Amino acid sequence: MMSHVLECLKCGYGTSDNNPVTVCAECGGLMEYRLVNDNIKFNGPLTFWRYKVVLPKISTTVSLGEGGTPLQKAERLAESLHFKNLYLKDETRNPTNSFKDRSASLIISDAKSRGYDSVVCATNGNHGASIAAYSAREDINCNLVVPSMVDMGKLAQMMMYDAKIVQKGDRIEEAIAMAKELEEEMDWYQATTELNPLAIEALKTISYEIVEQEGVPDWVIVAMGSGATLHAIWKGFKEMEMFGMIEKKPALIGVQAVGCAPISRAFSEDSDEPIKIEDGNTNASAIRVKEPLYGKLALNALRDSNGFAVSVSDDEMVEAGREIAGKEGIFAEPASSAPVACLKLAEVQSRISSDAKIVCLVTSSGLKTDDILRNLTKRKKAPRLGSRLSTKEKILRIIEQQPTYGYAIWKSIGLDMTIGAVYQHLTDLERRGLVKSTPDGKRKQLEITERGRRALQALDDLQVLL
Ligand SMILES: [Zn+2]
Repeated sequence: MMSHVLECLKCGYGTSDNNPVTVCAECGGLMEYRLVNDNIKFNGPLTFWRYKVVLPKISTTVSLGEGGTPLQKAERLAESLHFKNLYLKDETRNPTNSFKDRSASLIISDAKSRGYDSVVCATNGNHGASIAAYSAREDINCNLVVPSMVDMGKLAQMMMYDAKIVQKGDRIEEAIAMAKELEEEMDWYQATTELNPLAIEALKTISYEIVEQEGVPDWVIVAMGSGATLHAIWKGFKEMEMFGMIEKKPALIGVQAVGCAPISRAFSEDSDEPIKIEDGNTNASAIRVKEPLYGKLALNALRDSNGFAVSVSDDEMVEAGREIAGKEGIFAEPASSAPVACLKLAEVQSRISSDAKIVCLVTSSGLKTDDILRNLTKRKKAPRLGSRLSTKEKILRIIEQQPTYGYAIWKSIGLDMTIGAVYQHLTDLERRGLVKSTPDGKRKQLEITERGRRALQALDDLQVLL
């Protein structure tokens, strides 16, 4: 039985060969798969391929163990944000550390099924790294077209997975045009997200997983570049409602970078089409898209779901990334931190109740990006580091100022500590040779040693690095 038809969203033109193309041969509109099978049963463990029955039929399966990522309850992060039920869908846990492994798994499976030995893919990072990995696994020649600005870590992945890499232009749009030419000239399989509708099908599985893990949330928050991810997430929820798996759908929030917000601006200006922008200005390369192909569909999804769109600054993304890492142990790239960053906006706080169930989609790992390191080194010794000093370090810094006494130290840091605890720390510090004490009447005067100074200097050096 046929499970999917590929149809034009604009004119309804359908093709029966299911050859994955995004552009309608009749009118140039966007083509998309429509699920026609309503007899849905999922089989097997929670992985990407559990959802095979809602994906277009493909005879071969190429897998590196993608999907089935944790939906982590973020309790520490929630506390600092005044939301009680916050979850992070941790897509960094995929084989190449990004959600694009879902798309790559499906796309390379399709290429393999159709007997291709070469693929071409325009990419500004994560998608190309994924396509390269899955191609390597199947001994498929992987040709990647990348714009000039690509994160070093993502480039390193592409190279290690043995892809051929050509650079074209400064923006993803130019790379896409070249990938299209290469497809036609060389008869290579087209693996570019924007040119292969299987990418959307693959990403919708994230919604299926969320529902099977924790039920339907009230809100799902997604960063938007081309708008494809948000559209795919919405498609997943709509399908589940259609075949009776869920009774309600969540509201969606789409987040863009302030410097590159064609979709968010269109939402606030009540426009159906993305706003034309001059410069896409953000370091968050994963969402630096000036002409969002799925912008119109993302706007539809935001409005259909009774959700809304916002923008956050690069600094807000980086700061949110530090908090996600520091409080939840997940290292997200700036674009992936945007959903959490937006929870601090007054506008968002006024629209979401504090006990609402919120899922933030964390799409990719921060290990791959340049800008995190750049931002962290820029920061040097930020005053806020002081609040995270260990008690011993605090005590040592007080003694460093001038020779002093246990009681005076307790007075200046005391608060929740007993004076006994302070003396215990002092004994430890003295035993380690960081502090020395000299009797002064009934009291003991404390002084820092040369070794103590060196220890503090080492800590300072470390903080400059961090
Ligand atoms: Zn059409």
